[in-house]
Amino acid sequence: GPRLFGARQNSKGWDLTDTAHLAAIEAARAPHLTAIFDARPRIAGPVAGGQRLDVVNPATGEHVGNLIPAAQPDAEMALAGARVWDAAAPERAEVLRRAADLYEAEFGAIFALLAREAGKSLPDAVAELREAVDFLRYYADQGQALTAAPRGVFTCISPWNFPLAIFTGQIAAALVAGNAVLAKPAEQTPLIATLAVDLLHKAGVPQTALQLLPGDGRVGAMLTSDPRVNGVAFTGSTETALIIRRAMAANLDPAAPLIAETGGLNAMVVDSTALPEQAVRDILASSFQSAGQRCSALRCLYVQEDVAENLLEMLFGAMDELRPGNPWHLATDVGPVIDAEARDAIAAYVDTARAGGRVLKEMTVPNAGTFIAPAVIRVSGIEQMEREIFGPILHVATFRAADLDKVIGAVNATGYGLTFGLHTRIDDRVQRVVDRLHVGNIYVNRNQIGAVVGSQPFGGEGLSGTGPKAGGPDYLARFTAQPAPEVDP
Ligand code: GLU
Repeated sequence: GPRLFGARQNSKGWDLTDTAHLAAIEAARAPHLTAIFDARPRIAGPVAGGQRLDVVNPATGEHVGNLIPAAQPDAEMALAGARVWDAAAPERAEVLRRAADLYEAEFGAIFALLAREAGKSLPDAVAELREAVDFLRYYADQGQALTAAPRGVFTCISPWNFPLAIFTGQIAAALVAGNAVLAKPAEQTPLIATLAVDLLHKAGVPQTALQLLPGDGRVGAMLTSDPRVNGVAFTGSTETALIIRRAMAANLDPAAPLIAETGGLNAMVVDSTALPEQAVRDILASSFQSAGQRCSALRCLYVQEDVAENLLEMLFGAMDELRPGNPWHLATDVGPVIDAEARDAIAAYVDTARAGGRVLKEMTVPNAGTFIAPAVIRVSGIEQMEREIFGPILHVATFRAADLDKVIGAVNATGYGLTFGLHTRIDDRVQRVVDRLHVGNIYVNRNQIGAVVGSQPFGGEGLSGTGPKAGGPDYLARFTAQPAPEVDP
């Protein structure tokens, strides 16, 4: 497509209030409502494959597709067959741009799979396809002038919560730098990963430069402990990142980088000068959009005590207007959590809080699939939260204006540092938070999810990740053999 004045071409937007746009989406999705999809290794050689597994729709339990996971001989074949992509950088960039166009053309299948395999509402699916396309074009533009050599073989391990966008972002960065990629998508979402890899191959990425090895953590272990691997990009839990780091330390070249984006214990502060209507809207989006299954999501809301009663009353009223349900339906705001294991763990957590009389508000959800009712739980502060609860559960504490520094200290003391939201109309307060808080992304007077490629590079500090930020200007250098720039401590 045309790129004016050297500016990056934006991904195509969809207006979900426009009936013509909705009709186009419905028509393109319809053939994929009942289709059965297949996922299997895409490697440069014959596939051995493990035992076939069912992929199910988390909202309904229906069978969406079949997964043949990668077996040990497949990992061996992929490692032996991996070849760095020896095309010139501008040519690699052009192939990624072609892939971006193919992704956009496949919006029907992609929106359908994001709903059926990953439980994504249509607004989430639209945002996710756009982010994937933006990653492809942004890294293509950043990467076309690269002169540094690739590192070699990169293993990319991606999460189910952004099965297209994060999967694509890691791969695009590694590929545009010329590396050979071994992609290991989350075991819950191999179908969309297979579709994406097929589109990348169709665009012109060589089969030996991009191989797909779907499966569970055992596949990831094979691909992060083999000395032929020269670097790992990982997005997922902090615990898994530590396991990968240990495997790399034992077996890989000490210079092999681990680029990890991990968990968060994210807070938002709403003070008495905030606009309550706006704060409530942004709290809802930050905690319940994507059923709270974003590492950026709001987990602990601090409301200034003077306004807490009114604000919570408004919040609970607004929650009653949210529509949990099947993400295929246009009216749905909150879909299911990803699987039964996630549902059971979150439900047990809420049960304990309920037994302790700490559940302030709880919605009802469909009695099918793996839903969790959006809920609000009272806490004294973020220090009372032991871990990240990856679902639609918001914790609330109150604070006194004089204690803002204590709140900042408590947030810093968690060791995580991903996102933070601040609602205030006092400029000094914004500056104070920005100066003292150790988090990657601070959002002021808006929600704290949905970082935009190129304009809001995304990533955390401490337990939340290694950096560099995804979708930012420093990301690609880590995928090249050139020494990474010094990071400000
Ligand atoms: N980049 C996403 C956002 O800003 C979050 C990514 C994640 O959950 O891993 O909401």
